[in-house]
Amino acid sequence: MLPSLQMLEPSTAVQYVKGIGPKLAEILAAKGIHTVDDLLHYLPFRYEDRLNPRGIAELRAGEMATVIAEVRTSGLFRTRRMPIFQMTAGQGRTRLKCIWFNASYLQGKFQPGQMVALYGRVEDNRGELQLVQPQFEIIGDGEGEAEKKVADSLEIGRIVPIYESAGQGRLTSRWFRRIIHAALENLTPELPEAIPAAVRKRLSLLPPRDALQRVHWPEAGESFQDLLASRTPAHIRMIFEELFFIELGLELKRREQKVQTGIAFRLNDQVREAIKRILPFHPTGAQKRALKEIATDMEKRFPMRRLLQGDVGSGKTLVAFEAAIIAIENGYQVALMAPTEILAQQHYFSARRILEPSGYRIVLLTGSLDDDRKRETRRHIEQGNAQLVIGTHALIEQKVEFAKLGLVIVDEQHRFGVMQRSKLMRKSDKNDGGAAGVPARPAERSSAVERQGEPDVLVMTATPIPRTLALTLYGDLDISVLDEMPPGRIPIVTRRVGDERSDEVWQFVRKQVAAGHQAYVVYPVIEENEENELKAAMKMYSELSKNTFPDLRVAVLHGKMDAETKEMTMKLFQKGEISILVATTVIEVGVDVPNAAVMVIEHAERFGLAQLHQLRGRIGRGAAKSYCVLMTGGKVSEEGERRLDAMVRTNNGFEIAELDLELRGPGEFFGTRQAGLPSFQVASLIRDRDLLEVAKKEAGAVLSGPNSEISRTEIDRALWQMRTRWQKTYGLVEVG
Ligand code: ADP
Ligand code: MG
Repeated sequence: MLPSLQMLEPSTAVQYVKGIGPKLAEILAAKGIHTVDDLLHYLPFRYEDRLNPRGIAELRAGEMATVIAEVRTSGLFRTRRMPIFQMTAGQGRTRLKCIWFNASYLQGKFQPGQMVALYGRVEDNRGELQLVQPQFEIIGDGEGEAEKKVADSLEIGRIVPIYESAGQGRLTSRWFRRIIHAALENLTPELPEAIPAAVRKRLSLLPPRDALQRVHWPEAGESFQDLLASRTPAHIRMIFEELFFIELGLELKRREQKVQTGIAFRLNDQVREAIKRILPFHPTGAQKRALKEIATDMEKRFPMRRLLQGDVGSGKTLVAFEAAIIAIENGYQVALMAPTEILAQQHYFSARRILEPSGYRIVLLTGSLDDDRKRETRRHIEQGNAQLVIGTHALIEQKVEFAKLGLVIVDEQHRFGVMQRSKLMRKSDKNDGGAAGVPARPAERSSAVERQGEPDVLVMTATPIPRTLALTLYGDLDISVLDEMPPGRIPIVTRRVGDERSDEVWQFVRKQVAAGHQAYVVYPVIEENEENELKAAMKMYSELSKNTFPDLRVAVLHGKMDAETKEMTMKLFQKGEISILVATTVIEVGVDVPNAAVMVIEHAERFGLAQLHQLRGRIGRGAAKSYCVLMTGGKVSEEGERRLDAMVRTNNGFEIAELDLELRGPGEFFGTRQAGLPSFQVASLIRDRDLLEVAKKEAGAVLSGPNSEISRTEIDRALWQMRTRWQKTYGLVEVG
């Protein structure tokens, strides 16, 4: 145990902060707070101006206000619709009514005579002002006198930080105030500074210690607006710092890639002819542009690391095949990886259809092959017989040695993360001695690469990521965008229909099938409730096949089926021998059957927006007009309504992505942090786009080496800090 008088270091375990024992430390650990530094990066999500709280008499309807007043009366009222809790607080003779809906839990919470701080919207209720659903804190109740004094000084007469509570409310905002205050008081006065002086000066950054102090306990003169927008000098310092070290890492990775020796593919007439030979149609302008960017990368002597971004149906596959041809014609092997087996199979079929006239040897390698076939396929790969290898994760996760790997294509990247990406790149990167995913220092890699060059990597994603977000998420990649759809596409018509009208919907499907089209019927099967929902899906399938469409060919496809049956079913659907495919979301990604012109999505309200958009992307791929029917059953949440509205309103992936980002927040939008999003402590991808750009620029400048502004020592210190942070954030320390 540390003696209590000793100063706290940022790295000190949080349980040595006064007031935190092992029990509470555990709750904090669940929030990712392990050290004093973590605790100090637990920032208030807003502030209350209790320095200038408002008099009740001066309140105006429509504004947000902080009011400090004394509890007079309180109680629960039952109306016909819901219980309403009401509390009246007073300042001298003036009174203010506060109400909370559905809040029986507040019973007994307030005692007359208590002082409370209230924060909320002022509303006019028939001439009388009231606070509706205000946040509140009781700031004077029965604690010991001495403690109360300290507490009081943190609670009123200043701008007060409000923290998110933790441990199911056990650690309140008020508790955090006290603890963080104590931590700051005992924090060592000197914190190391790893941002180079020139950068600090250019951006007028506060020293780290001051920033911490002021972000938690703003000075009286601080602009309240800046506080709420996280744009005070203290906020800017902290946010910039975080983004700067992330960008420094990404930028370093990028530069390392450029000093590695890649393969300089040749793009001669023979290759051009081979590409022309396969083209079944005129590429779009966007496809041409993307291919040109890719080809230019491939010709260079350093390895390509490129992201191909394009909405569903924009024709990424064709571009990928073209890139594959360049590598194959140069005598190299190509690996194409897909996130699901179905998608891998489908790529395999279309690769054979499109590429086989060129005589390339194409193999499929998935986890579900039996061992003999796997072994045989591997041997083909090892001996260099297989020129294009298509598969799932099995490709990276199991030991596959390529004789001469020249290009790796990863489809639907949003299913993979940064980490898987590094693993993949590592696979072809045997000379790397650094920890996985952590950018190594160039010096450590000096022995690198006399042998065969690094393969090129092309990553494809359908997630329309706003550019600044892409900068962070894919900061180590160059980006090509397919922003144009193949010609002749007719916009998909999307309608929302309650499931009481399912008869009409099935009639419509029948008509479409009679006209020669095919249809998907999608049923949600969500992992946590998989068994039941799968049952429901199967029930619907038998209902449709036996009763609704006894005369049509109906088949089912779901994740639990064995690979062979899946493959067979997909093949039959592709050939048009199945008219109606009842499926779970296994078809979400990448499936391409242009003749499928109808999609009925059951329980559409249960799907996420991005998922709905992905699903819908399976239709509208052919020349016929396509229809997407969103069926809903039962009550739809408000957010569900917004998702369905958006789907009906627009087909534009970017628009949908923006809304999705707004509805779910970036963490969910990209999945968890395994999904490859650097996890942020204080920065926000949406709010801090501007600082992200600045951080990227400054990181780039630092890496261009020592000059009159920045010394070698400063650069080393920044790099050291960056590596420490990356290792901590991603937990990737591989000692080798
Ligand atoms: P995604 O970008 O979603 O992977 P695909 O590569 O599967 O899209 O292409 C969608 C459909 O558009 C496929 O049927 C494909 O054959 C077709 N397609 C791609 N490029 C063109 C083009 N230039 N002209 C016409 N059709 C195209
Ligand atoms: Mg695709």
